[in-house]
Amino acid sequence: MTGTDNDKLNYKDGFSELFVKFIDAMVDYEHFSRDALVDALNRLARSFRLTKVVTEFYKSMIAEKDGEGEILCDFDEGPADIVVLKKELILKTGAIVRVIAYAAEGTEPLSREEEQRLDICIRAMMGYIGRNRLQTAVEILAFHDNNGYPNFAYYFRHLGKMSKTGGFLGFTAAMYNLKNFSGINRDIGFESGNVVMKAHYETLRDMIGERGTVCRVVGDNFAAIFPNELLEQITTFLEGTPVIYDQETKGSVSVSACAGIFVIPEDFVYERPGDIVDMIMPTCQAAKVSGETDFVYASMKNLEDKENAARVRRDFEKALKNSEFQAYYQPKVNVETGRITGAEALCRWIRDGKMITPMEFIPILERSTDIFRLDFYMLDLVCKNIRKWLDEGRNAVRISINISRKHLTDPKLLDNIVDIVNRYDIPYEYIEIELTETTTEGDYNKLKKLVEGLKKIGIYTSIDDFGIGYSSLNLIRELPWNVMKIDRSLLPTSSTNEKNLSTILYKHITAMACDMGLECLTEGVETEEQVQILRDNSCEYAQGYYYDWPLPLDEFEKRLEAGEYPVHLR
Ligand code: C2E
Ligand code: MG
Ligand code: MG
Repeated sequence: MTGTDNDKLNYKDGFSELFVKFIDAMVDYEHFSRDALVDALNRLARSFRLTKVVTEFYKSMIAEKDGEGEILCDFDEGPADIVVLKKELILKTGAIVRVIAYAAEGTEPLSREEEQRLDICIRAMMGYIGRNRLQTAVEILAFHDNNGYPNFAYYFRHLGKMSKTGGFLGFTAAMYNLKNFSGINRDIGFESGNVVMKAHYETLRDMIGERGTVCRVVGDNFAAIFPNELLEQITTFLEGTPVIYDQETKGSVSVSACAGIFVIPEDFVYERPGDIVDMIMPTCQAAKVSGETDFVYASMKNLEDKENAARVRRDFEKALKNSEFQAYYQPKVNVETGRITGAEALCRWIRDGKMITPMEFIPILERSTDIFRLDFYMLDLVCKNIRKWLDEGRNAVRISINISRKHLTDPKLLDNIVDIVNRYDIPYEYIEIELTETTTEGDYNKLKKLVEGLKKIGIYTSIDDFGIGYSSLNLIRELPWNVMKIDRSLLPTSSTNEKNLSTILYKHITAMACDMGLECLTEGVETEEQVQILRDNSCEYAQGYYYDWPLPLDEFEKRLEAGEYPVHLR
């Protein structure tokens, strides 16, 4: 284009303004809709006294020959007698783009200047069509998975678009997991399983329609966003719906899901799509493991929890180096004699003079392998202390250490425990490992191996918090435990009502522990009456506030010195 031509494309007659709008509508997909593009096209076409504009796209010459292309006519306002301009572009891929502009007979012909302008517009249009088609191919590759589901990147992009347009007020985000889908695959076969998943997804997609979206995150996990008014309908659908997998036999399975749901509040600060995903992903996880409810609702408290979790993870490394974690010792007491027979080491994080309790950081550390490091750190600390007591000739007692169930995935767990204990040359009978019950089969096998391995060398093991998890009698029968620690929730508060269910339950559990030759200890003993309940039920050992809270090292050493509690506490 020459300098003179350029000068002619000035803003005075409104053409350039219109042209800029036209270009904007073609390049900025996020802010301009297709309607805006058609509107700009129509206004331009009218300014050139055109009556019809047709665009054609063919993937290849063969497709063109066969007439298999996409022909669009977004401007058609009268008789199309004369071809005013016809332009064709062959893309590198071999695709063909064509634009034809028509006018009615008798229309005043275009001036040279107008012809040039129309030429520019049509070239821009062809470039757009070519790119746009390419975009479709890219779109399918980047935003869909191999099975044709829109993927997580699609969800992120959708959230990004929403944030730029209407925002999130009045919307609910959800992440859901199809329950027992591996079971469904097993029952009806993998292929039929795929059919079921697709049908389930498509029903929800159609329910949401243009008002939101639903995408597959991975496997049988999906993420959705939709207006609040659909929430009830959607949760009802996710609670359980029969899905047909074989049209001929009408074979169907019931599909249900658990979900994390976030009704986005007015004061929610959105910066990036991850902010919404951070709300629904952990709640979906919580729903999966809840056992009580299939739907967990996220709240702003989750956000505070998230910040707290980030802080814990960030500070953990430094805290280990600075020895901010300490072992507090809670005595275990023989209820007949009042003697201290052992203690449980409980972790305390002392930060800037304030004490942080395990419940505030252990569940967070358990989300990563950081918990392995904490457990070993505690074991190391305890061994160091026992070594000191032995060297000083004190009455050392057996100390129990809690090992997180998450730690079972560590293949070196047993070796590492033994290495640490050996490093301080601690006789094995001074060490007890507390483990909680487990629910999954994989964990069960690992737990069994660990307990057997520890038993073989003479390190004690106890089953912690017995009675609150999914207690399995096999777990007690098949594993060679030394100690059963009955959870405090099973300890009756009073002995007056003998027919009380908790009294009966407690009686049978203690009897079972004794019959199986396990040392029996009850946790959370707070009153004298409860100590008597232990005695009445032949539970030999107690641990609880009645005797002592978990004590810092120097306080506990004083107790060790005394060796037993004064008579009034027995
Ligand atoms: P746990 O192993 O069941 O420990 C017993 C908990 O009961 C302790 O809470 C203890 O302070 C509390 N407790 C003791 N006596 C009483 C009582 O009379 N009444 C009541 N209401 N509570 C009593 P704590 O120290 O807050 O520890 C909580 C949990 O954190 C522990 O439960 C254990 O599962 C975990 N934990 C503590 N230290 C460690 C550690 O070093 N590693 C791992 N993996 N977990 C730890
Ligand atoms: Mg414990
Ligand atoms: Mg316990």
